[in-house]
Amino acid sequence: MLLYPNFENLKFLVDSGVSEFIQDIPKPIYSLKKNANDYHLQDISEVNNLSELETFINNSNICELKKGSNKTVFADGNPSSKIMLIGEAPGADEDKYGKPFVGKAGQYLDKMLKAINLDRTKVYISNVVPWRPPENRQPTSEEIIQCLPFIQKHIELINPYMLILLGGTSAKALLTTNDGITKLRGKWHQYNSLNLTQSIKTRAIFHPAFLLRSPNFKRKTWEDLLEIQKIIKSNEIN
Ligand code: URA
Repeated sequence: MLLYPNFENLKFLVDSGVSEFIQDIPKPIYSLKKNANDYHLQDISEVNNLSELETFINNSNICELKKGSNKTVFADGNPSSKIMLIGEAPGADEDKYGKPFVGKAGQYLDKMLKAINLDRTKVYISNVVPWRPPENRQPTSEEIIQCLPFIQKHIELINPYMLILLGGTSAKALLTTNDGITKLRGKWHQYNSLNLTQSIKTRAIFHPAFLLRSPNFKRKTWEDLLEIQKIIKSNEIN
């Protein structure tokens, strides 16, 4: 048995030529690997399908939000759809039922979809963050960064023709910008990933929960929905 748990670690570093530390305690590189969930997180590239991704996210402890939530909210809708919608994070209803957009905002989202002849059998829906933030607050930048590999992998596995980003948090995170939703909506963007052969046509629109609070912005959203419908029709993607 080792007297000092970090001794082996320290010896490895000294043997490797390390002579100075910029912190008091060297990082326990061996014990990092011993945590199965952390270990898996380094290997999200090994996830090959949606069910593996769901298990992977369920097993992950990378984000503290998981501890305060009841369910991991993975996705809803049709995984073969060419249209993927991405919201911010689950709320109380989503956390209860384990599905995205089942509360008031979800009911309004269904109306928005219906207005352009879509429903949940024709789209696929997920969130940037799979666990409910306490008191429905916005996820922090740190939480978003911790969960980003999940949604990036999710997009790669679905590989949709079109992404619809619901609200500023989703739009900023996936378009990697500091611009707000008011600036990002109203035009087409490209979502790129090194693991996708083609970029994905992306539209950012106001979040349905925001529209319920601020009905003045519904008209602008209707314009966005019509643009989305135009692309769907002209490319026969439904
Ligand atoms: N708001 C979101 O962004 N996602 C949900 O799943 C529900 C509400």
